[in-house]
Amino acid sequence: MKTQKILADLHLHSTFSDGKLTIPEIVDLFGKRGFGAIAITDHLCESATFLGKAAGYLNQTLTPETFPRYQAILKSEAERARREYGMLLIPGFELTKNTILNHRSAHILALGVTSFIDANLGIEEICAEIRKQGGLSVAAHPVSTRRLEKQTYFLWDRRDQFRETFDAWEVASGRHFFDEVAESGLRLIANSDMHRPEQMESWKTVFTVRGPETPGSDIPRPLFITWDQIISDVRSQSVEFTYYREGLPRVARRTHMTSPIRRRELKWPLKTRRKSMLMGLVALSLFAVGLVQWTFGFERG
Ligand SMILES: [Zn+2]
Ligand SMILES: [Zn+2]
Repeated sequence: MKTQKILADLHLHSTFSDGKLTIPEIVDLFGKRGFGAIAITDHLCESATFLGKAAGYLNQTLTPETFPRYQAILKSEAERARREYGMLLIPGFELTKNTILNHRSAHILALGVTSFIDANLGIEEICAEIRKQGGLSVAAHPVSTRRLEKQTYFLWDRRDQFRETFDAWEVASGRHFFDEVAESGLRLIANSDMHRPEQMESWKTVFTVRGPETPGSDIPRPLFITWDQIISDVRSQSVEFTYYREGLPRVARRTHMTSPIRRRELKWPLKTRRKSMLMGLVALSLFAVGLVQWTFGFERG
């Protein structure tokens, strides 16, 4: 018997919605880095709302038409991921309820689910359907993502009501760790929400696998995690979280653990600070140019 820590990232987007990589490219990206489990979770938007319809026209969402091909590719890629990398590929999607109001928007990850679910259904109905299909329901990026983008606060505003509705809540999304979610007492999970390969550096969830060595090989191979173990470890919260840095060697998943206390150090990386300063400078220049034009225009008039 041996124990092994395995890295998991259960929130990834492919070209089936608004991601830049195809599903096979994602499998290779994570497989080559020694990950133990990933989930592809393309957007499945509401068809009843204006923003959902717009996503449909722009091919940014799964539809009943594209869904069977999506599942077929996930199935064949799951076999290849297991064969080539000893990695578990979990089928999933992200039920996406977008409105122009942050407090009315909600994103729900359906993990381990292979049948289409209508995103127009209510939150409770969606989660019940996920559970019926033997899947895990996750409240995605429930608080401010600390990024300049549309936010999804609907679930967080009702976290007491939905406490038992969801199997887990994202405590981190990408490079940002959410202290308020960590302190909430809810069940937690950490994912990248990767749309582009540069977003590989992010918070991840770590599972501990116990089992015998893979027989028939001289080279020690990583242990394979099962979907059943992921379900039970998420529900019992036998999980850890780690900040994964790109460029670490393959064995990184076994050595690079971050203790909960050290999480805070990584909150505001230098690159983000530089970007914010640059954006501030651009905004200031635009304002100055506008002010000059307005002043001179006013005098001429
Ligand atoms: Zn989302
Ligand atoms: Zn997402």
